[in-house]
Amino acid sequence: AGRVLTFGETMGLITGGRIGSLAHVSEAHVGIGGAETNVAVSLSRLGVPVTWVGRVGDDALGKRVVREVRGEGVDVRPTVDPDAPTGLMLKELTGPGTSRVYYYRAGSAGSRFTAADVPAGLVEDSALIHLTGITPLLSDTAREACRLLVRRAKDAGVRVSVDVNYRSALAPVDVAAKVLGELVAEADVVFGSPEELAYVVPGGAELSASPDELAAALDPSGEREIVVKRGGDGASAYAGGAVVHAPGHRVEVVDTVGAGDAFVAGYLSGQVRGWSVADKLARANACGAVLCTVPGDWEAAPTPEDLEVFLGEGGDPVR
Ligand code: ATP
Repeated sequence: AGRVLTFGETMGLITGGRIGSLAHVSEAHVGIGGAETNVAVSLSRLGVPVTWVGRVGDDALGKRVVREVRGEGVDVRPTVDPDAPTGLMLKELTGPGTSRVYYYRAGSAGSRFTAADVPAGLVEDSALIHLTGITPLLSDTAREACRLLVRRAKDAGVRVSVDVNYRSALAPVDVAAKVLGELVAEADVVFGSPEELAYVVPGGAELSASPDELAAALDPSGEREIVVKRGGDGASAYAGGAVVHAPGHRVEVVDTVGAGDAFVAGYLSGQVRGWSVADKLARANACGAVLCTVPGDWEAAPTPEDLEVFLGEGGDPVR
């Protein structure tokens, strides 16, 4: 498989040790989280060579991010920023299988990402670059970095993958729609929920638009791949004027956060191997489902062997 390059912000993640408000829960777990490293770890588990670039602070959480992601076999190229801390995310367990996230990332090292953080030649040597709509909303420098890196990829004939991943904490819808719409317009492969895709359709779309309508509006000429994530209902992929639907696997959901990232990694693992759209979507859908069955945003990212067991058991949870 060709190498995937991804970049963005990864933060420390503190999760309440039990269901309840962080105003009262006393015990907690320490980990890391970031959409792009979630994807990178998942790709690595699936045997795809992958590089992650990002900025961390000169602090304990920065060391943890680098060590943990590197420990998963991802080629990690960090810039250690002496002037800003590693960002932080708090996860409050609000009920069985539900949670709420609070960000402490304004001014963080990761938000100070620039294109210069990506070593020369790295984009050009990749088969595909993957970015999310989170990065361009972190700061002006990060937005400019995304623009430059996408340009470098396109000039070198490297494919561009974008997961819209709209985070309302980072920007209001109208601001995000413009920035993310520009990014999506450059992508060869686009991932999003129906709602996210409606935001980034040029000129906007009705929030009630169907996946068929959204894909047609985003890619009238059928030159790109539009992948619609629909949670427990599964996903659909539009490519070359055809569509493939994958119904959701029936699983016992423990924690859905990160399912989208595992899903994207599953899809991209087939992308860099030249798989059919149907095979890519099937793998993506299985990866997303497995991730829902275990707590944690990325820890349960499946290997091909895990997927075989999962599918062999009729798609029921393996753990
Ligand atoms: P996140 O941002 O929390 O990682 P997302 O909103 O990007 O997630 P979802 O649509 O929730 O993405 O999930 C992505 C994919 O994971 C779905 O398309 C599906 O394949 C799988 N998935 C998610 N939730 C479930 C579920 N409850 N049961 C089975 N599969 C699921």
